[in-house]
Amino acid sequence: MKSREEAIRAIDGKSFDVCVIGGGATGSGCALDSQLRGLKTVQLEAEDFASGASSASTKMVHGGVRYLQNAIRHLDFKEYLVLKEALRERVPMLRNAPFLTNTRSFLVPCFERMDVAYFSVGLKLYDWIAGRDSLAASTFISREETLRRMPEIASKNLCGAMVYADGQFDDARYNITLIKTFAEAGGETLNHASVIAFEKDASGRLATAIVEEKVMRRTFPVQARCFVNATGPYADKIRTLATPASRPRLRLSKGVHMVLPAEVLSGREALLIPKTDDGRVLFAIPWLGSVLVGTTDEEINSFDDVHLRANEVEYLLRHLNRYLATPVSAGQIVGGMSGIRPLLTSRKAKNTKKLARSHEVEIDSHSSLISIMGGKWTTYRAMAQDAIDAVQKKIGMQGSQCRTLNHKLVGSDGYSADYWQSLQKIYGLPEPAARQLAEKYGARASDVMELVKQDPQRALPVASLAPLRAEALFAIRDEMAISIEDVLARRLGVQTHSWKTAIEAAPVVADILAHELGWTETVKKEELGRYRIKIRGLMQKAGVATEIT
Ligand SMILES: Cc1cc2nc3c(=O)[nH]c(=O)nc-3n(C[C@H](O)[C@H](O)[C@H](O)COP(=O)(O)OP(=O)(O)OC[C@H]3O[C@@H](n4cnc5c(N)ncnc54)[C@H](O)[C@@H]3O)c2cc1C
Repeated sequence: MKSREEAIRAIDGKSFDVCVIGGGATGSGCALDSQLRGLKTVQLEAEDFASGASSASTKMVHGGVRYLQNAIRHLDFKEYLVLKEALRERVPMLRNAPFLTNTRSFLVPCFERMDVAYFSVGLKLYDWIAGRDSLAASTFISREETLRRMPEIASKNLCGAMVYADGQFDDARYNITLIKTFAEAGGETLNHASVIAFEKDASGRLATAIVEEKVMRRTFPVQARCFVNATGPYADKIRTLATPASRPRLRLSKGVHMVLPAEVLSGREALLIPKTDDGRVLFAIPWLGSVLVGTTDEEINSFDDVHLRANEVEYLLRHLNRYLATPVSAGQIVGGMSGIRPLLTSRKAKNTKKLARSHEVEIDSHSSLISIMGGKWTTYRAMAQDAIDAVQKKIGMQGSQCRTLNHKLVGSDGYSADYWQSLQKIYGLPEPAARQLAEKYGARASDVMELVKQDPQRALPVASLAPLRAEALFAIRDEMAISIEDVLARRLGVQTHSWKTAIEAAPVVADILAHELGWTETVKKEELGRYRIKIRGLMQKAGVATEIT
């Protein structure tokens, strides 16, 4: 990718066919789709790429068994269609970036014979709706087999478990990889650049976005024939910026996860907790060497202070511990995350748990702003296709058809499941390092290793058992990271897996940033101080003890 300075030069005052606002899953999907259809496209992200909901998901490429339950219980055809679309979209999502995705088996423990019948019918229906897009047929396994595959499960009254398959992915890296694919297709993109106002032409159509670049605090215009609002939970704000009288369309729902060490679920399978006190399902999923537990669904009215809190930790632990032989305590939590779901309003649904995860493309008849709202990660590609179809219609450009269905993301070409072995052979890497590089960058891991060839010190980890220093450098040089959090949260994933490791890695990353971006010692210290305070705050809010000073 270009450096930020190069990107600003290519964007400042320039004209595009399409300007996509938002650098999450939806915006990145739209930007790639648009550029691949031959539309000259720019993407603007107010914070960091993937810093919103798109790095705070349960990391499932799924139809959603809960939505199946809703569809059946409430005879909701809309819910059924969302489920069907998501089941279908799993396939291209897994296929187009195999290094960032995998299929995961989920165990649904059954403690009564009735459970077996209920879950068996439900999951067979899930398989049937998926049809030829099914990832594996669901089956029942005996009590003995359940305990062999998941020894941590509570054995009292256990009859066995239903097993079904869904997809899993690295959400933040998938988002960054989408953006890199867009940039390689010729698109322009910039993070830490917020759309703060619009200018309109004589007919009232949006003509120019005023962009505030947050690092140098510059403001510049960007012209486009069409503006796509893909700002997820912030979509109503952009709609109001374009047409002040717009009625709100979104309801916001907060969801949290806690991260536990791998030993909590030592096998390869994930656990589905099918009933919570508030009528949800919860997951405990092995994920890149940790166990991710979530999520919650709480309607919120403000964007402030959306963090994992001690009462939410208590809620997650209470439900998880009902299913485990040895209870987990809050002291074992190593990390956590929270995000805001952008859900479309519905007159029928009283609370956000009942809202369907459908999406909608809205064309504002006054300003011509195209807003793509709602949806889920798994359907990002279909959402983008619908949004860019609307763009093409709006600007009267037939152009080419959507090409994202089979478009491989960067790192996929030349990648195979044993690619890590060639990394091991060529660069003499230990197996864990070779595997984690292959899982993050696919066949582009060799670009990271070229940095090590230039300076072997870069093969050192940023902290104990963490990614390589070369990866931090790569994040800054090739992926537009400009802060410790950009590097450790969205590019390297360290912050997601362990707050303590993130604190340990921060000074090393700060040194690399200072060297690359020409920071003074004072700037570096300030950035390090800010980061420490932030992580300590996250730990305190979650009720996790911190010895960090
Ligand atoms: C807890 C939780 C768990 C989930 N689990 C799953 C799951 O397992 N599977 C699944 O398929 N889906 C899941 N989802 C849903 C999925 O994560 C979201 O639907 C998806 O990430 C939304 O992407 P987005 O791009 O629309 O929004 P976001 O990722 O929030 O991106 C919007 C971006 O717009 C930017 N922005 C805002 N204002 C401006 C501006 N003025 N100028 C420029 N940029 C701006 C923001 O900074 C932000 O980065 C989950 C969601 C949550 C919250």
